[in-house]
Amino acid sequence: MSRIAYVNGQYVRHADAAVHVEDRGYQFADGVYEVCEVWNGNLVDVPRHLDRLGRSLSELRIDWPMARSAVNFVLHQVVRRNRVRDGLVYIQVTRGVSRRDHFFPPEGVAPSIVVTARASSAAAAAAQAEEGIAVVSYPENRWPRVDIKTVALLPNVLAKQNARENGGKEAWYVDADGFVTEGGSTNAWIVTKEGVLVTRPAEDRILRGITRAVVLEIIKKEGLTFEERPFSLEEAFNAKEAFVTAATTVVMPVTRLDGKMIGNGHPGSVASRLRELFHTATDLRVV
Ligand code: PLP
Repeated sequence: MSRIAYVNGQYVRHADAAVHVEDRGYQFADGVYEVCEVWNGNLVDVPRHLDRLGRSLSELRIDWPMARSAVNFVLHQVVRRNRVRDGLVYIQVTRGVSRRDHFFPPEGVAPSIVVTARASSAAAAAAQAEEGIAVVSYPENRWPRVDIKTVALLPNVLAKQNARENGGKEAWYVDADGFVTEGGSTNAWIVTKEGVLVTRPAEDRILRGITRAVVLEIIKKEGLTFEERPFSLEEAFNAKEAFVTAATTVVMPVTRLDGKMIGNGHPGSVASRLRELFHTATDLRVV
């Protein structure tokens, strides 16, 4: 079976899927995206992802490429046509195709939309979560509007590549005051020695992660103690546990930071429990 992508109104073979060379996403990173988890045949938290997509678009003054309900339909279609049971679905919307010029294109240029889906192994993800991941810190060097989920991910690419070259799977950005902001493609959390869950406030130079929001709901429901405040790299070294959250990883324990063990160097019980509970709290409605 060949993979299928959706490109500007058509379902095409993934191998043939293409956008124009003057697409503004390609030339200026002038676009936004979303990634939803596909779990057990379900698309996870689509309404929240579409809300965030709408917010990103409106912050950049890009129109919806089509009605929100149509976008929702295409997301489900692409997952179905690729027979993805576990994996992810990706949507990208750019300001469209126009002669290269920094100014917005003339009236009437339609935004471009691309949707792809790909399968991944749930067993491999579970095995990774049993082991935990290593994280490597990196100086925060992104623009202040990281709350907008733009495709301008060059700093994230460099930070994550640096992590890989230093034995890690994720980077943790550290701001000028020594506080962790978030991961290269995840939100960052610790559990203190006293058992308090800590994550940076959503309004404070991070992407407002959907997974982060769902995990906060679980934490509240379970009556766990938490604080939304910045934590320093130093505090993370001394934490009992650490973990990251994202649609791509759900809840993933962090067992090493800059080569040092976190806690006993094994995934913590709080992170593992939150991972277990995660899909009890997600929205799997097909709307
Ligand atoms: N932070 C960054 C920089 C990200 O790129 C992502 C996801 O791509 C996240 C956090 C996690 O967001 P979500 O839970 O919505 O996937």
